[in-house]
Amino acid sequence: MEKICVAVRVRPPISQENPSGAFWKVEDNRISLHKLQGSPISGLSYAFDHVFDENCSSSEVYELLTKDIIHAAVDGFNGTAFAYGQTSSGKTFTMNGSSSDPGIIPRAVNDLFQIINTIDREFLIRVSYMEIYNEEINDLLAVQNQKLQIHESLERGIFVAGLGEEIVNTAEQVMKLLESGEVNRHFGETTMNARSSRSHTIFRVVIESKEKDTGSFDDYSSSDAIRVSVLNLVDLAGSERIAKTGAGGVRLREGKYINKSLMVLGNVINKLSDGAKQRAHIPYRDSKLTRILQPALGGNAKTSIICTVAPEEIHTEETKGTLLFASRAK
Ligand code: ADP
Ligand code: MG
Repeated sequence: MEKICVAVRVRPPISQENPSGAFWKVEDNRISLHKLQGSPISGLSYAFDHVFDENCSSSEVYELLTKDIIHAAVDGFNGTAFAYGQTSSGKTFTMNGSSSDPGIIPRAVNDLFQIINTIDREFLIRVSYMEIYNEEINDLLAVQNQKLQIHESLERGIFVAGLGEEIVNTAEQVMKLLESGEVNRHFGETTMNARSSRSHTIFRVVIESKEKDTGSFDDYSSSDAIRVSVLNLVDLAGSERIAKTGAGGVRLREGKYINKSLMVLGNVINKLSDGAKQRAHIPYRDSKLTRILQPALGGNAKTSIICTVAPEEIHTEETKGTLLFASRAK
Protein backbone atom coordinates (compact mmCIF):
# COMPACT_ATOMS: atom_id res chain seq x y z
CA MET A 1 0.00 0.00 0.00
CA GLU A 2 1.39 3.36 -1.07
CA LYS A 3 1.46 6.05 1.58
CA ILE A 4 -1.05 8.84 0.99
CA CYS A 5 0.65 12.22 0.69
CA VAL A 6 -1.18 14.83 2.77
CA ALA A 7 -0.58 18.57 2.49
CA VAL A 8 -2.17 21.78 3.72
CA ARG A 9 -2.28 25.04 1.79
CA VAL A 10 -3.14 28.35 3.43
CA ARG A 11 -4.50 30.96 1.06
CA PRO A 12 -3.78 34.69 1.46
CA PRO A 13 -6.39 36.59 3.50
CA ILE A 14 -9.27 37.94 1.41
CA SER A 15 -11.36 39.85 3.90
CA GLN A 16 -9.81 42.67 5.86
CA GLU A 17 -9.76 41.94 9.54
CA ASN A 18 -7.67 42.64 12.57
CA PRO A 19 -7.24 39.38 14.38
CA SER A 20 -8.21 39.74 18.01
CA GLY A 21 -7.30 36.39 19.46
CA ALA A 22 -5.15 34.07 17.40
CA PHE A 23 -3.55 33.40 14.03
CA TRP A 24 -2.24 30.40 12.08
CA LYS A 25 1.51 30.16 11.76
CA VAL A 26 3.29 28.00 9.19
CA GLU A 27 6.79 26.71 9.93
CA ASP A 28 8.28 24.07 7.64
CA ASN A 29 5.77 21.24 7.48
CA ARG A 30 3.82 22.35 10.54
CA ILE A 31 0.84 24.63 11.03
CA SER A 32 -0.16 25.82 14.48
CA LEU A 33 -2.52 28.27 16.07
CA HIS A 34 -0.73 31.04 17.94
CA LYS A 35 -1.90 33.72 20.32
CA LEU A 36 -1.54 37.26 19.00
CA GLN A 37 1.41 37.80 21.34
CA GLY A 38 3.12 34.89 19.58
CA SER A 39 2.98 31.93 21.90
CA PRO A 40 1.54 28.71 20.50
CA ILE A 41 -1.80 27.45 21.74
CA SER A 42 -1.27 23.92 22.97
CA GLY A 43 -3.01 21.05 21.24
CA LEU A 44 -3.45 22.97 18.01
CA SER A 45 -0.30 22.16 16.12
CA TYR A 46 -0.34 19.78 13.17
CA ALA A 47 2.40 18.35 10.95
CA PHE A 48 1.91 17.05 7.40
CA ASP A 49 4.01 15.96 4.45
CA HIS A 50 3.94 19.56 3.27
CA VAL A 51 2.43 22.81 4.49
CA PHE A 52 2.22 25.60 1.93
CA ASP A 53 1.90 29.13 3.21
CA GLU A 54 0.17 31.98 1.39
CA ASN A 55 3.30 32.77 -0.62
CA CYS A 56 3.65 29.34 -2.15
CA SER A 57 3.09 29.12 -5.85
CA SER A 58 0.91 26.61 -7.62
CA SER A 59 4.01 25.40 -9.38
CA GLU A 60 5.56 24.38 -6.04
CA VAL A 61 2.34 22.65 -5.05
CA TYR A 62 2.28 20.76 -8.34
CA GLU A 63 5.94 19.71 -8.12
CA LEU A 64 5.64 18.34 -4.60
CA LEU A 65 2.19 16.87 -4.69
CA THR A 66 1.15 15.80 -8.16
CA LYS A 67 4.12 15.45 -10.48
CA ASP A 68 5.02 11.95 -9.24
CA ILE A 69 1.42 10.84 -9.65
CA ILE A 70 1.46 11.91 -13.31
CA HIS A 71 4.74 10.11 -13.99
CA ALA A 72 3.44 6.96 -12.28
CA ALA A 73 0.20 7.18 -14.27
CA VAL A 74 2.17 7.19 -17.52
CA ASP A 75 3.94 4.06 -16.24
CA GLY A 76 0.63 2.32 -15.66
CA PHE A 77 -0.26 3.12 -12.03
CA ASN A 78 -3.60 4.62 -11.06
CA GLY A 79 -3.59 7.90 -9.16
CA THR A 80 -5.87 10.40 -7.48
CA ALA A 81 -5.29 13.95 -6.26
CA PHE A 82 -7.95 15.62 -4.09
CA ALA A 83 -8.57 19.16 -2.96
CA TYR A 84 -10.51 19.27 0.33
CA GLY A 85 -11.62 22.32 2.29
CA GLN A 86 -14.39 24.74 3.12
CA THR A 87 -15.87 26.94 0.39
CA SER A 88 -13.59 29.91 -0.44
CA SER A 89 -10.47 28.26 1.00
CA GLY A 90 -8.81 27.79 -2.42
CA LYS A 91 -9.72 24.31 -3.74
CA THR A 92 -10.60 25.48 -7.24
CA PHE A 93 -7.70 27.93 -7.26
CA THR A 94 -5.42 25.00 -6.45
CA MET A 95 -6.95 22.57 -8.97
CA ASN A 96 -7.77 24.89 -11.88
CA GLY A 97 -5.87 28.07 -11.12
CA SER A 98 -6.11 31.02 -13.49
CA SER A 99 -4.66 31.72 -16.92
CA SER A 100 -1.77 33.64 -15.36
CA ASP A 101 -1.15 31.02 -12.68
CA PRO A 102 -2.34 27.57 -13.78
CA GLY A 103 -3.34 25.09 -11.11
CA ILE A 104 -2.74 21.35 -10.75
CA ILE A 105 -5.04 20.24 -13.59
CA PRO A 106 -3.54 22.31 -16.45
CA ARG A 107 -0.02 21.59 -15.19
CA ALA A 108 -0.76 17.86 -15.04
CA VAL A 109 -2.24 17.88 -18.52
CA ASN A 110 0.75 19.75 -19.95
CA ASP A 111 3.20 17.47 -18.22
CA LEU A 112 1.34 14.39 -19.35
CA PHE A 113 1.64 15.26 -23.03
CA GLN A 114 5.27 16.27 -22.58
CA ILE A 115 6.15 13.02 -20.86
CA ILE A 116 4.44 10.75 -23.38
CA ASN A 117 6.24 12.52 -26.20
CA THR A 118 9.53 11.32 -24.77
CA ILE A 119 8.42 7.69 -24.46
CA ASP A 120 8.70 5.23 -27.28
CA ARG A 121 5.24 3.73 -26.93
CA GLU A 122 1.92 4.40 -28.57
CA PHE A 123 -0.52 6.27 -26.33
CA LEU A 124 -4.27 6.66 -26.30
CA ILE A 125 -5.53 9.37 -23.93
CA ARG A 126 -9.19 9.78 -23.04
CA VAL A 127 -10.72 12.32 -20.69
CA SER A 128 -14.03 12.64 -18.92
CA TYR A 129 -15.37 15.23 -16.55
CA MET A 130 -18.18 14.56 -14.12
CA GLU A 131 -19.95 16.08 -11.18
CA ILE A 132 -21.57 14.41 -8.20
CA TYR A 133 -24.35 16.61 -6.91
CA ASN A 134 -26.71 15.30 -4.22
CA GLU A 135 -25.42 11.77 -4.93
CA GLU A 136 -26.38 12.12 -8.60
CA ILE A 137 -23.69 11.75 -11.23
CA ASN A 138 -23.78 14.18 -14.16
CA ASP A 139 -21.55 14.29 -17.21
CA LEU A 140 -20.05 17.76 -17.59
CA LEU A 141 -18.94 17.10 -21.17
CA ALA A 142 -22.45 16.18 -22.32
CA VAL A 143 -25.35 17.89 -20.58
CA GLN A 144 -27.81 15.27 -21.75
CA ASN A 145 -25.98 12.65 -19.67
CA GLN A 146 -27.55 13.21 -16.28
CA LYS A 147 -28.13 10.95 -13.28
CA LEU A 148 -25.71 8.30 -14.48
CA GLN A 149 -25.40 4.97 -12.72
CA ILE A 150 -22.35 3.10 -11.48
CA HIS A 151 -21.94 -0.43 -12.80
CA GLU A 152 -19.39 -3.16 -12.40
CA SER A 153 -18.40 -5.84 -14.88
CA LEU A 154 -15.60 -8.34 -15.20
CA GLU A 155 -14.41 -6.69 -18.36
CA ARG A 156 -14.54 -3.05 -17.32
CA GLY A 157 -14.39 -3.18 -13.54
CA ILE A 158 -16.27 -0.32 -11.86
CA PHE A 159 -17.52 2.27 -14.36
CA VAL A 160 -20.06 5.05 -14.79
CA ALA A 161 -22.47 3.88 -17.48
CA GLY A 162 -23.03 6.45 -20.22
CA LEU A 163 -20.23 8.77 -19.15
CA GLY A 164 -18.70 10.39 -22.22
CA GLU A 165 -15.01 9.97 -22.93
CA GLU A 166 -13.20 12.17 -25.42
CA ILE A 167 -10.04 11.02 -27.12
CA VAL A 168 -7.49 13.81 -26.93
CA ASN A 169 -4.13 14.44 -28.56
CA THR A 170 -3.00 17.77 -27.15
CA ALA A 171 -3.09 19.71 -23.89
CA GLU A 172 -4.98 22.54 -25.66
CA GLN A 173 -7.74 20.14 -26.63
CA VAL A 174 -8.13 19.07 -23.01
CA MET A 175 -8.26 22.64 -21.76
CA LYS A 176 -11.01 23.45 -24.27
CA LEU A 177 -13.04 20.48 -23.05
CA LEU A 178 -12.62 21.55 -19.46
CA GLU A 179 -13.84 25.03 -20.30
CA SER A 180 -16.92 23.65 -22.00
CA GLY A 181 -17.46 21.49 -18.91
CA GLU A 182 -17.46 24.58 -16.72
CA VAL A 183 -20.16 26.09 -18.92
CA ASN A 184 -22.26 22.94 -18.63
CA ARG A 185 -21.79 23.00 -14.92
CA HIS A 186 -24.00 26.00 -14.48
CA PHE A 187 -26.43 24.97 -17.18
CA GLY A 188 -29.85 25.84 -15.83
CA GLU A 189 -28.43 27.19 -12.62
CA THR A 190 -28.76 30.77 -11.54
CA THR A 191 -26.12 30.62 -8.86
CA MET A 192 -23.21 28.77 -10.34
CA ASN A 193 -20.93 29.33 -7.39
CA ALA A 194 -23.50 28.08 -4.96
CA ARG A 195 -23.84 24.89 -6.94
CA SER A 196 -20.17 24.34 -7.62
CA SER A 197 -19.34 24.57 -3.96
CA ARG A 198 -21.89 21.84 -3.30
CA SER A 199 -20.78 19.30 -5.83
CA HIS A 200 -17.71 17.13 -6.23
CA THR A 201 -16.07 17.31 -9.63
CA ILE A 202 -13.89 14.56 -10.98
CA PHE A 203 -11.66 15.21 -13.94
CA ARG A 204 -10.53 11.84 -15.18
CA VAL A 205 -7.80 10.87 -17.61
CA VAL A 206 -7.46 7.30 -18.87
CA ILE A 207 -3.97 6.62 -20.16
CA GLU A 208 -3.53 3.60 -22.35
CA SER A 209 -0.26 2.66 -23.97
CA LYS A 210 1.24 -0.21 -25.90
CA GLU A 211 4.42 -1.10 -27.65
CA LYS A 212 4.61 0.39 -31.09
CA ASP A 213 3.50 -1.64 -34.11
CA THR A 214 1.62 -4.27 -32.16
CA GLY A 215 -1.82 -3.94 -33.68
CA SER A 216 -4.76 -1.87 -32.48
CA PHE A 217 -5.64 -1.22 -28.84
CA ASP A 218 -8.78 -3.32 -29.24
CA ASP A 219 -7.44 -6.58 -30.51
CA TYR A 220 -4.20 -6.78 -28.63
CA SER A 221 -4.35 -9.58 -26.11
CA SER A 222 -0.98 -9.78 -24.41
CA SER A 223 -1.48 -8.16 -21.03
CA ASP A 224 2.21 -7.36 -20.73
CA ALA A 225 2.42 -5.07 -23.66
CA ILE A 226 -0.65 -2.99 -22.93
CA ARG A 227 -0.92 -0.67 -19.95
CA VAL A 228 -4.01 1.16 -18.74
CA SER A 229 -4.14 3.59 -15.87
CA VAL A 230 -6.68 6.03 -14.53
CA LEU A 231 -5.88 9.43 -13.11
CA ASN A 232 -8.50 11.37 -11.13
CA LEU A 233 -8.18 15.03 -10.19
CA VAL A 234 -10.92 15.84 -7.73
CA ASP A 235 -12.29 19.20 -6.53
CA LEU A 236 -14.43 18.22 -3.54
CA ALA A 237 -17.58 19.94 -2.36
CA GLY A 238 -17.12 22.54 0.39
CA SER A 239 -16.52 20.82 3.71
CA GLU A 240 -18.19 23.50 5.85
CA ARG A 241 -20.71 22.25 8.32
CA ILE A 242 -24.24 23.33 7.63
CA ALA A 243 -25.47 25.85 10.17
CA LYS A 244 -27.88 24.44 12.69
CA THR A 245 -30.18 27.33 11.99
CA GLY A 246 -30.89 29.01 8.72
CA ALA A 247 -30.18 26.09 6.40
CA GLY A 248 -33.49 24.71 5.31
CA GLY A 249 -34.87 22.90 2.28
CA VAL A 250 -32.51 22.56 -0.65
CA ARG A 251 -29.41 23.73 1.25
CA LEU A 252 -30.06 21.33 4.09
CA ARG A 253 -30.52 18.43 1.68
CA GLU A 254 -27.29 19.29 -0.15
CA GLY A 255 -25.47 19.66 3.14
CA LYS A 256 -26.51 16.22 4.32
CA TYR A 257 -25.25 14.58 1.13
CA ILE A 258 -21.97 16.47 1.25
CA ASN A 259 -21.36 15.73 4.91
CA LYS A 260 -22.06 12.08 4.33
CA SER A 261 -19.85 11.64 1.27
CA LEU A 262 -16.96 13.57 2.82
CA MET A 263 -17.31 11.50 5.97
CA VAL A 264 -17.21 8.30 3.93
CA LEU A 265 -14.18 9.61 2.04
CA GLY A 266 -12.51 10.34 5.38
CA ASN A 267 -13.28 6.82 6.60
CA VAL A 268 -11.99 5.21 3.42
CA ILE A 269 -8.76 7.21 3.45
CA ASN A 270 -8.31 6.65 7.16
CA LYS A 271 -8.63 2.89 6.71
CA LEU A 272 -6.30 2.93 3.71
CA SER A 273 -3.60 4.88 5.50
CA ASP A 274 -3.94 2.72 8.59
CA GLY A 275 -1.35 0.19 7.44
CA ALA A 276 -1.76 -2.14 10.41
CA LYS A 277 -5.25 -3.24 9.43
CA GLN A 278 -4.71 -3.83 5.77
CA ARG A 279 -7.46 -6.36 5.51
CA ALA A 280 -10.04 -4.23 7.24
CA HIS A 281 -13.27 -3.68 5.36
CA ILE A 282 -13.02 -0.46 3.37
CA PRO A 283 -16.42 1.19 2.95
CA TYR A 284 -16.08 2.25 -0.71
CA ARG A 285 -19.71 1.42 -1.35
CA ASP A 286 -21.02 3.93 1.17
CA SER A 287 -20.86 6.85 -1.28
CA LYS A 288 -20.81 7.38 -5.03
CA LEU A 289 -17.59 9.36 -4.79
CA THR A 290 -15.58 6.59 -3.13
CA ARG A 291 -17.20 3.93 -5.30
CA ILE A 292 -16.20 5.72 -8.50
CA LEU A 293 -12.69 6.32 -7.18
CA GLN A 294 -12.27 2.83 -5.71
CA PRO A 295 -10.01 1.49 -8.49
CA ALA A 296 -7.71 4.48 -8.11
CA LEU A 297 -7.44 4.41 -4.30
CA GLY A 298 -5.53 1.88 -2.27
CA GLY A 299 -3.39 -0.93 -3.62
CA ASN A 300 -0.49 0.49 -5.57
CA ALA A 301 -2.40 3.60 -6.62
CA LYS A 302 -0.79 6.92 -5.75
CA THR A 303 -2.91 9.37 -3.78
CA SER A 304 -2.41 12.92 -2.59
CA ILE A 305 -4.70 15.27 -0.71
CA ILE A 306 -4.32 18.98 -0.47
CA CYS A 307 -6.39 20.48 2.30
CA THR A 308 -6.96 24.16 1.71
CA VAL A 309 -7.64 26.49 4.61
CA ALA A 310 -8.63 30.12 5.06
CA PRO A 311 -6.42 32.13 7.45
CA GLU A 312 -9.10 34.54 8.72
CA GLU A 313 -10.13 34.33 12.34
CA ILE A 314 -13.80 33.92 11.48
CA HIS A 315 -12.85 30.63 9.81
CA THR A 316 -10.88 29.19 12.75
CA GLU A 317 -13.42 26.48 13.56
CA GLU A 318 -13.66 25.31 9.95
CA THR A 319 -9.88 25.39 9.63
CA LYS A 320 -9.56 23.19 12.71
CA GLY A 321 -12.08 20.80 11.14
CA THR A 322 -10.07 20.64 7.92
CA LEU A 323 -6.80 20.06 9.78
CA LEU A 324 -8.46 17.25 11.71
CA PHE A 325 -9.59 15.65 8.46
CA ALA A 326 -6.06 16.01 7.12
CA SER A 327 -4.62 14.46 10.28
CA ARG A 328 -6.89 11.44 9.95
CA ALA A 329 -5.74 10.97 6.36
CA LYS A 330 -2.05 10.67 7.24
P1 ADP B 1 -13.02 27.16 -3.19
O1 ADP B 1 -12.92 26.50 -4.53
O2 ADP B 1 -12.38 26.37 -2.09
O3 ADP B 1 -14.41 27.57 -2.83
P2 ADP B 1 -11.58 29.29 -4.49
O4 ADP B 1 -10.51 28.50 -5.13
O5 ADP B 1 -12.71 29.72 -5.35
O6 ADP B 1 -12.17 28.52 -3.23
O7 ADP B 1 -10.89 30.53 -3.77
C1 ADP B 1 -11.59 31.62 -3.22
C2 ADP B 1 -10.90 32.92 -3.62
O8 ADP B 1 -9.59 32.99 -3.08
C3 ADP B 1 -10.73 33.07 -5.12
O9 ADP B 1 -10.94 34.42 -5.45
C4 ADP B 1 -9.29 32.66 -5.36
O10 ADP B 1 -8.76 33.27 -6.50
C5 ADP B 1 -8.60 33.11 -4.09
N1 ADP B 1 -7.48 32.23 -3.72
C6 ADP B 1 -7.58 31.00 -3.22
N2 ADP B 1 -6.40 30.45 -2.93
C7 ADP B 1 -5.48 31.37 -3.30
C8 ADP B 1 -4.03 31.40 -3.26
N3 ADP B 1 -3.30 30.38 -2.78
N4 ADP B 1 -3.42 32.54 -3.70
C9 ADP B 1 -4.15 33.56 -4.16
N5 ADP B 1 -5.49 33.59 -4.21
C10 ADP B 1 -6.16 32.53 -3.79
MG1 MG C 1 -14.48 25.88 -5.78
